[in-house]
Amino acid sequence: MNTSDGPVAVIGAGPVGLVTALGLVAHGVPVVVFEAGNDLSSETKAGTVLTRTLEVLDRYGALGPVLEASLRLDEIGEVDRATGTSTGSVLTSALAGETRFPFVVNVPQHELEPVLASLLEERAPGALRMRHRLVDFSQHDDGVALRLSTPDGIVAFAASHVLACDGGRSTVRERLGVEVEGHTLEQRYALVDLVCDLDVRNPRDYPYLAYFGDREEWMVLVRQPHCWRFVFPLAPGRDAPAAEELRDKAAHFIGEVDSVEVLGSNVYTVHHRVASRWRDRRVFLLGDAAHLITPMWALGLNTGVLDASNLPWRLAWVLRGWAGEELLEGYEAEQKPVAVHGSGAMAEAARAVMDRRSDSVAGWRDAMTRTLLGVRLGADWSMTRSGPPRAGDRIPDLRVFDRRGPVHLHELCRDSFVALHLTDARRRPFLPADGPPGLKQVVVSRWDAPDLRSRAFFDPGDTVRERFSDTVVLVRPDAHIAHIEPWTTTSWRSVQDRYLQEVHLAG
Ligand SMILES: Cc1cc2nc3c(=O)[nH]c(=O)nc-3n(C[C@H](O)[C@H](O)[C@H](O)COP(=O)(O)OP(=O)(O)OC[C@H]3O[C@@H](n4cnc5c(N)ncnc54)[C@H](O)[C@@H]3O)c2cc1C
Repeated sequence: MNTSDGPVAVIGAGPVGLVTALGLVAHGVPVVVFEAGNDLSSETKAGTVLTRTLEVLDRYGALGPVLEASLRLDEIGEVDRATGTSTGSVLTSALAGETRFPFVVNVPQHELEPVLASLLEERAPGALRMRHRLVDFSQHDDGVALRLSTPDGIVAFAASHVLACDGGRSTVRERLGVEVEGHTLEQRYALVDLVCDLDVRNPRDYPYLAYFGDREEWMVLVRQPHCWRFVFPLAPGRDAPAAEELRDKAAHFIGEVDSVEVLGSNVYTVHHRVASRWRDRRVFLLGDAAHLITPMWALGLNTGVLDASNLPWRLAWVLRGWAGEELLEGYEAEQKPVAVHGSGAMAEAARAVMDRRSDSVAGWRDAMTRTLLGVRLGADWSMTRSGPPRAGDRIPDLRVFDRRGPVHLHELCRDSFVALHLTDARRRPFLPADGPPGLKQVVVSRWDAPDLRSRAFFDPGDTVRERFSDTVVLVRPDAHIAHIEPWTTTSWRSVQDRYLQEVHLAG
């Protein structure tokens, strides 16, 4: 069986599967998404989309419709529940110099998924196949043979690769015999969506995302476009609360209000578990299939989207013949530490702050702000590091200009590696007319050089160079820095060699 020319099969049309598919489509990779359900999920689940995810959605051309369905917020609050006093807020405008999207949005997951699905239908008609449950698969040298259960019986499908976005109970993970390592919390979390007026008749003036820390009983309050969502812990062994109890609970948290309607609720078990392996030859695990993270600080769904940012471009490069197979190894090498130590550790630290086991409430604002944006990839992982940019960092989305007007660094690298030569354009740096596919080399300078204008970007006020000094910065298609070195007249060659190493075509 020759399966290598088949499309990439994404298993599962949850948020991670849909964003992954949009990423593959954005890179021109043929994709089919198989979803077991009749419909997309209607359950009350994740509700907040962080800045970093907004950047990924923008890169995949999906941001506009998501913003239209969402509630924007510019303040994230931390409140001491017992006293009702604010211990400080994160004002997301602090990120204005770093990103075009210095805010987060609230959108219920069951409203986000249809937006992503209709974008996918628009870009790749017929790619989303509902009522197709993956039951089994086998790998061959040149592809993967799938067996899917459908209303018409079992059907076979030949795919080049399988991206398992099939959630916490992943069939693919189970078939591969991959273990998950970690623990399950004793507490479960209850989530309830309530319609109550906290703006006019019972003004509370809460930020639209607020964390109420408390030794006894913390609470997260999330304003959704159509309701308020409360998340709080349930003591071990407690049953799911009935509607009346949920109403009382809300009153306990926010004081008496004139009317409360329960729209829906969900009680869920909270895990902190990561798959021991994320790849088996042509099969990869992403999202909840790879990691179940305490959804504190919205790090459940949003961590999955980081996987969906890391893998599609790698596959595109390999399938186009622009990279060696080894490029695919970087996915697990980078994303697993992000899940374990980055998001995972941050979510656990956030939990400790929430139930006041940690006295680091003072550092909360700083850590939260960086969580919104910063992921550093590589062995030396961190979501909280500050200081000068280094390889592995997400590059700030700074503005430069070309002949048509403003353009941002993340736009420059959408479907390409970009070598930014941050030097004085009056030195007339040499840039090769062509080079390996998938690499662009450009000059970024506050000085104009008329004969270089087609390859140069104007950096008014030296804003970009001030961040990086006189360097050449190699940026990947996912906006992470692959390499930085001091600029010299031969940088064009050394950065090209470095690119070939990155994509495993060197030597
Ligand atoms: C109650 C609750 C509240 C949460 N709150 C938050 C929150 O506030 N913030 C946050 O960031 N995260 C939160 N999370 C976590 C968040 O919902 C998940 O991280 C997110 O849904 C993961 O997305 P996913 O696409 O990886 O998996 P899922 O959303 O689980 O999607 C998996 C999809 O795969 C399909 N599927 C499964 N098996 C197969 C198969 N064999 N063949 C084909 N299709 C298959 C399923 O039907 C499903 O559509 C919450 C989760 C729950 C349950």
